[in-house]
Amino acid sequence: MVWLKTLLLTLGAFIVGGAAVFLALYLDNGPLEQVFGTQTRTEAESPVAEHHASSPPAPLSESELPPVEQFNHIPKTKLYDDHVAVLMYHDMSSTEKGGDIITPDLFAAQLDFLRSKGMNFITLEQFRSFMEGAAVPENAVLVTFDDGYENFYTTAYPIMKERGISGVSFVITGDFSKKAMVYTPHMTRQEIQSMLAADPNTEVQPHTNHLHYKTSETTDALTAPLVKDGVKESPGEYITRISGDLATCIDQLKTLNKRPVDSFAYPYGLYTPEVEQVVKDAGIKYAFTTTLGLASRNDNPLAIPRINGGSPLVSPQRLFASIYWENKQPGHNLYLPDEVQHSGREDIRSVDVHR
Ligand SMILES: [Zn+2]
Repeated sequence: MVWLKTLLLTLGAFIVGGAAVFLALYLDNGPLEQVFGTQTRTEAESPVAEHHASSPPAPLSESELPPVEQFNHIPKTKLYDDHVAVLMYHDMSSTEKGGDIITPDLFAAQLDFLRSKGMNFITLEQFRSFMEGAAVPENAVLVTFDDGYENFYTTAYPIMKERGISGVSFVITGDFSKKAMVYTPHMTRQEIQSMLAADPNTEVQPHTNHLHYKTSETTDALTAPLVKDGVKESPGEYITRISGDLATCIDQLKTLNKRPVDSFAYPYGLYTPEVEQVVKDAGIKYAFTTTLGLASRNDNPLAIPRINGGSPLVSPQRLFASIYWENKQPGHNLYLPDEVQHSGREDIRSVDVHR
């Protein structure tokens, strides 16, 4: 019977050992990962260029995204230090719905939920100090809006002000004089002046003067030479054109913004090493992309990642889940798929190509 005893002992060891391994994995990854596994996106699926090169994917519905209810129960705690979740928004409306249009109610609920989870909203000035080596509050969040729509002034900014939150609006200065010609009205100089007078911590920063339009699936007027009457700009003409545009944009904002005009958001999140250099030469210290991630001091300051809160699919819980996950497993964020991170109306300004 010795052989039977040996067999039973061996079997027992396997069972106990297996359970121990399972328990160890569970404890290591935590219960949340057990729910959704550790499915990851490949690098090839993530870059902005890939996203723009393919035809737009069918819009996702909320039910197709991983559930986020369990994030309701995560206690208020320190999630991260020495990082900033830079939130990205575009447009806001209580009546219209779209890829990058969210309702005022959703925006307010996102801010309130993040705060209830211990997130601390910082200003662009605090972000600058952080990038230069100063401490930043734990769970730091910076709110940014692209395109300078008038609803930033009428709707988003009041919601933030009511909560003592100051953010930054990246504005297209060429739109100051074309308010009536674009589909979504843009802030005027007067509106910006009155907003910045009421809250000196809110800032406006450049988003180009006249270069916010696509010239192909993968390029815009900032990132590639233009072709006029079949003739392509020379490299010198190209650099002169985009440098001049940036200088105009920065000069116009210097008369409005009380703090340094030193931050920039790349239209469509598109940029090249050449553009980075031009942006740097223009005096920009911090340039924001649409790449998903938390900002750290070690990042290239001219390629700062952001997290898109400006989609109707991003519930308060989903936004929190996304920040939580970007901190825990950067690059393995299931809660904000590419289609949601890059959702938007990328052709909104294509009309500009013809003017
Ligand atoms: Zn934009």
